[in-house]
Amino acid sequence: MKFLKKLILLIFILPALIAAQPNNYVILISFDGFRWDYANRGITPNIDYMKKNGVSASSFQPCFPSKTFPNHQSIITGMYIDNHGIISNSFEDPFTGERYRLGDDKTTSQSKWYLGEPFWETAKRNGIKTASFFWPGSELDLKYRRPDFVKHYDKSFPYYARVDTVIKWITLPYPVRPHFVTLYFSLTDTYGHIFGPNSPQINNAIASVDSVLGYLFRRLKAVKMNDSVNVILVSDHGMTEISPKRIINVGKLIGKTGCKIQNSGPFMLVTPPKGKGNFVYNILKQNEKHFKVYWKKDIPDYFHYKRNPFISKILLVADLGWSLERKEVNKFRMKGNHGYDNHQLDMHGIFFAIGPSFKKGYRTGTIWNVDVYPLLCKLFGISPRGNIDGKLERISFILK
Ligand code: AMP
Ligand code: ZN
Ligand code: ZN
Repeated sequence: MKFLKKLILLIFILPALIAAQPNNYVILISFDGFRWDYANRGITPNIDYMKKNGVSASSFQPCFPSKTFPNHQSIITGMYIDNHGIISNSFEDPFTGERYRLGDDKTTSQSKWYLGEPFWETAKRNGIKTASFFWPGSELDLKYRRPDFVKHYDKSFPYYARVDTVIKWITLPYPVRPHFVTLYFSLTDTYGHIFGPNSPQINNAIASVDSVLGYLFRRLKAVKMNDSVNVILVSDHGMTEISPKRIINVGKLIGKTGCKIQNSGPFMLVTPPKGKGNFVYNILKQNEKHFKVYWKKDIPDYFHYKRNPFISKILLVADLGWSLERKEVNKFRMKGNHGYDNHQLDMHGIFFAIGPSFKKGYRTGTIWNVDVYPLLCKLFGISPRGNIDGKLERISFILK
């Protein structure tokens, strides 16, 4: 009888469980703020290995504004920022006064802000298990909208131990093991801000995260999964040098007009008080030097950043390397920043991919970050949401 039960399990139930999960794996890694050219400095042997044996893009174009949370959402949902709704790292709903703020988990975990469908949600609907060792926007308060395994963000969590956990996840018993995993490292962003993209310190950070990548490859080999896992390495944006000599004091221009200002540095969202819109716009327009001022309706179409109701009436975008500030800054410490026009090459990141599904030694031009979501769907043979901005035909040629 016992034997019969086992036989029934073997014949009927196990294949059903196995069929429910795909036979491929994708690890999607993000090196925050890793500018496209960091990979060409001769200090990244493990990225070089990916270039030689996989696909390498000359750069990876973020969406505007080239900031962390908005772009991680664009990568994972395939949507422009206008459409997925995370319009900045921090912003306000002007209709309710509620705020979304990077660093405040209570707000960044609220599902209501996220209008796109992240890949792990699409995967879940298709019976694929997923996991995340960090990804901005991965800790939503609704279970069906987050990965099956998710870690609470801790910037200082040791990098090599993150890889160890990922290896543990993808070697779990077959029915529960995740087949799509994200990994995130912030070091290159932090060092880029503090020391600048051309400093010796950023080169140390670049070499450090590259060695973590090498560790991942070694561990995949050790568990004999290096031939079955597709590894995609991206970054959310680049970095450019800024200087205290390149500051625009917006507060001095519109100080007493009672405007609400959100963000500073590469761009600013300005909401003038009722009836003062033209007055404020005209002052800014007359002083439009080293930045651009736009009415919301006139924001260039290529930004894909004018339809979301949370975007303010007036948008200021600084010229590359310039900083928009609310008041005079006495101690200007940062050496690098991002958030500028996403067509500026300094704002571009990286895209590399290696594994059984990708061409070998294949070099391509710039890839758009919204195209990663349809690529992931293709890799798992599932249908993307119909309302995305990404296009498979712009990226599918990198597949075998
Ligand atoms: P940015 O201001 O655009 O440079 O944002 C980068 C910052 O976002 C880094 O300092 C990260 O530590 C932080 N960060 C990245 N992922 C998360 C997350 N999942 N939760 C909270 N903060 C994060
Ligand atoms: Zn970032
Ligand atoms: Zn940053």
